[in-house]
Amino acid sequence: MTDFELESEVAKRRTFAIISHPDAGKTTITEKVILYGKLIKKAGTVKGKKSGVYATSDWMEMEKERGISVTTSVMQFPYADCLVNLLDTPGHADFSEDTYRTLTAVDSCLMVIDAAKGVEERTVKLMEVTRLRDTPIITFINKMDRDIRDPIDLLDEVERVLNIACAPITWPVGSGKEFKGVYHLLRDETILYQSGQGHTIQPIRVIKGLNNPELKIRLGYYADELREQITLLKGASHSFDLSEFLAGRLTPVFFGTALGNFGVDHMLDGLTAWAPPPQPRKTNKRLVSPIESAFSGFVFKIQANMDPKHRDRIAFMRVCSGRFAKGMKLHHVRLNKDVLVPQVLSFMAGERDHLEEAYPGDIIGLHNHGTIQIGDTFTCGEQFHFVGIPNFAPELFQRIRLRDPLKQKQLLKGLMQLAEEGAVQLFRPEQNNDLIVGAVGVLQFDMVVHRLMVEYGVDAIYEPVKIVTARWVYSENPRAMQQFIQKNNSALALDGNGNLTYLAPTQASLQLMIERFPDIHFAKTREQR
Ligand code: GDP
Repeated sequence: MTDFELESEVAKRRTFAIISHPDAGKTTITEKVILYGKLIKKAGTVKGKKSGVYATSDWMEMEKERGISVTTSVMQFPYADCLVNLLDTPGHADFSEDTYRTLTAVDSCLMVIDAAKGVEERTVKLMEVTRLRDTPIITFINKMDRDIRDPIDLLDEVERVLNIACAPITWPVGSGKEFKGVYHLLRDETILYQSGQGHTIQPIRVIKGLNNPELKIRLGYYADELREQITLLKGASHSFDLSEFLAGRLTPVFFGTALGNFGVDHMLDGLTAWAPPPQPRKTNKRLVSPIESAFSGFVFKIQANMDPKHRDRIAFMRVCSGRFAKGMKLHHVRLNKDVLVPQVLSFMAGERDHLEEAYPGDIIGLHNHGTIQIGDTFTCGEQFHFVGIPNFAPELFQRIRLRDPLKQKQLLKGLMQLAEEGAVQLFRPEQNNDLIVGAVGVLQFDMVVHRLMVEYGVDAIYEPVKIVTARWVYSENPRAMQQFIQKNNSALALDGNGNLTYLAPTQASLQLMIERFPDIHFAKTREQR
């Protein structure tokens, strides 16, 4: 493959995730995005179909896939001249580590906001995470077919609460039952909405120009209101600036209704035109450019038993540089060992396929038989690892034990695997045989007991334990480390990867330790070092 071919593959890729509060419409948008992606692929071009209404069978295919789209984590589809990778983030309300790490594997994010509710709590949290890497953000304000808040207020709130400038690209005309469509500020055209067409790609009905008399005929009173609002908006709001967007300081804003399938295509046009292709990534040694010919990638997620037929564990790897080809030998950096990767999975709009090749920005799935951990880097031989894929110190702890003591082995195996996936963290105290489960969100505990039962056949229960937080401990000073260990052995444990951890019984005791042992690092997050 020539440099030019690799460069053009990289330039085509857009890898993004959706961040939103539950119920804002992430799943619905994902469906519409796939609808566009798939149909464009099938029909060559959207406008190719005369009626603009697609056969029911297409929709039923989509419905069938809904089951898959809920459980699938990665979708790839063509749109415009791009290949788009959409990474799903877990839907439940808990802030989860999985979501955080998925956000380290994308180049941009789509933020979905419910137009009736505005900026909600989980969106705030997720935005904080994207700010750590200044990820470019596109905003979609959803549910315009409902009674909503004033769009100007919504933009104000985004700017104030999330501290990012808003540049409206489209502007709504009416809302709720009176939602008429949007005016596209860059294209200077009004795109009309028709309700009840949510399951199809709608024939596009456009009125060019704000002073076009047709606007008044079609929209009546709303035409005057729109003209006024746009004049106001042009004076008062930010205009779109590509470099500000790429720096994560400004977000282009689109309005629409995912349920009515209106506006999602405008957003996708913006995403493919402006969102960055795969970017260079930091490692512990140097910056790795996507157009380097040598392959590299990192694992950001491990998921068990995705397909009940296979009952396997899949490691999700983001390709960072070069080209991956089937049958390639990869260098497993942490183990400093070359491994042959016989089968690699790709994820094409919900179907798991065996993959022939992949490029930077793509996500590929490796079968994991226990040798791969979250954060692992694979290269063509060079010894470096990607940084910025952390574990978080849990803040909730319980001791887990069996109802049936004969199944200790299965319990340990199950917990080790769930810990390796990043579903939960496991701590094994130095001084006894307890198994301590640590979580960031409380839902993780229920999920663990449920999965232990279903997947490993063990019936486990929790007992309270007096631990409030954990810190990974290390030091450049071996003597200080030795002293610390001697004094605190009863509070020390090994985590699932064998790293020494201090389990603090109270916040005060943690504070005391930090003061008493200045040569010891008490880390709140852990990355592979
Ligand atoms: P998620 O939790 O963010 O994935 O949200 P969903 O996509 O499951 O949507 C939550 C609910 O809002 C569902 O009942 C959807 O049908 C509904 N919904 C999503 N988009 C719209 C929209 O544009 N308008 C209206 N009225 N309802 C919507």
